[in-house]
Amino acid sequence: MRAIIIGAGIAGLAAALRLHQIGWESLIVERAPHRRGGGYAVTFGGIGYDAAERMGILPALQARAFITNELVYHKPNGQRRFSLNREAIAATMGSRSMNILRGDIETVLYEQVHDNTPIRFGTTVTAVNQNDTGVHATLSDGTVEHADLLIGADGLHSTTRTLVFGPEDNYRLDLDHMVAVYMLDKRPAAIAEGTTGTLSTGGRTIAVISIGDGRNVAFFGYRTDRNLGNLADGPHKVLPQVYDGMGWVVPEVLAGMKTTESIYFDTISQMVVDRWSRGRVVLLGDAAWCVTLFAGYGSALAVGGADLLGTALRDNPGDFDAALTRWEAELRPEVERKQKLGQRVKSVYAPANPVALWLSQLPLRLAALPPVRRYMARRFIKG
Ligand SMILES: Cc1cc2nc3c(=O)[nH]c(=O)nc-3n(C[C@H](O)[C@H](O)[C@H](O)COP(=O)(O)OP(=O)(O)OC[C@H]3O[C@@H](n4cnc5c(N)ncnc54)[C@H](O)[C@@H]3O)c2cc1C
Repeated sequence: MRAIIIGAGIAGLAAALRLHQIGWESLIVERAPHRRGGGYAVTFGGIGYDAAERMGILPALQARAFITNELVYHKPNGQRRFSLNREAIAATMGSRSMNILRGDIETVLYEQVHDNTPIRFGTTVTAVNQNDTGVHATLSDGTVEHADLLIGADGLHSTTRTLVFGPEDNYRLDLDHMVAVYMLDKRPAAIAEGTTGTLSTGGRTIAVISIGDGRNVAFFGYRTDRNLGNLADGPHKVLPQVYDGMGWVVPEVLAGMKTTESIYFDTISQMVVDRWSRGRVVLLGDAAWCVTLFAGYGSALAVGGADLLGTALRDNPGDFDAALTRWEAELRPEVERKQKLGQRVKSVYAPANPVALWLSQLPLRLAALPPVRRYMARRFIKG
């Protein structure tokens, strides 16, 4: 059996690994000219953690995971408002979950597949046709590839989805926020090594995450319902406008944009797709169900979804309809729960008003109190 996988992100690489484990061959088609590194920090847990364990990649992921020594919430003047120490952070995360860079998850998966799965970089899909016997993908390099199944793992703005399921506008649910993330060449002096500093005011949040191995991530998330900036203008123009006058480490972090290798800058949008497959074409990961960073679960769903997809294909040989129906029935309730969570978090994330901000941080403030921390540690870590 053979699959064409569009996209070499977490979902695409995880699908290639799982399919290899069940005896399939795959071809991965990736638009970028080469692999992406770094990215941003994600919390990886839940069904992704379980799947990683089953797929045999958990030790490699754990070796690249990082632990935050302290999470500090700042006041607009830069002073500390409150903080969570290592123990409190661990308690809020639970024991089967880790902090890791998105690019490091991709690296672990890539190391598992690059010997057994060809990846065609700098290439995209331009047409997809299918019949009862197979699926044919026309690629931008002029070739036509044939396979039993085509997996669209090409992210939020999936070309596969547009070609086979229809325009993105039919499925995109904007959550009225923008996000920008990039790696910083230099850690601001005000952020201690191995810690995360964050400041939220006036509908804008900035965070600097020091991984502790010399790598640092700058994160910006802000509300757009106050017309703060515009996607088409690009981050170099928009971020300085939106974060103007915010003080603290903001000017230094904005200056870091000039030397960074790449910037992730996009709307925070969910993908709500009624059915994730059409015949022999199936969407996976953000292309199918993007839950957004508000849910903090997209990488987990990408790996968990790939694992379950492989299992469903293995257990229903030759019957794609049965396999994809079973797979979706198993996964959809979890995705819908996380999408609802993402929509709820939207209303408390980067609130514009100070009282709402104080309330939104209350659970974290409570988690910082020793008795609550001890309770959470008992409940989530030892329990
Ligand atoms: C700031 C931020 C924080 C996050 N935090 C968390 C978190 O804490 N926990 C968590 O679990 N998740 C988190 N997520 C979500 C998580 O990162 C994503 O859900 C996950 O990376 C999705 O992987 P993917 O492979 O589906 O898509 P993507 O990572 O978008 O990968 C898609 C791949 O397809 C390629 N591609 C795109 N178009 C084409 C095309 N036409 N042809 C060929 N290739 C193409 C792209 O170059 C890319 O390599 C966060 C996301 C963001 C933005």
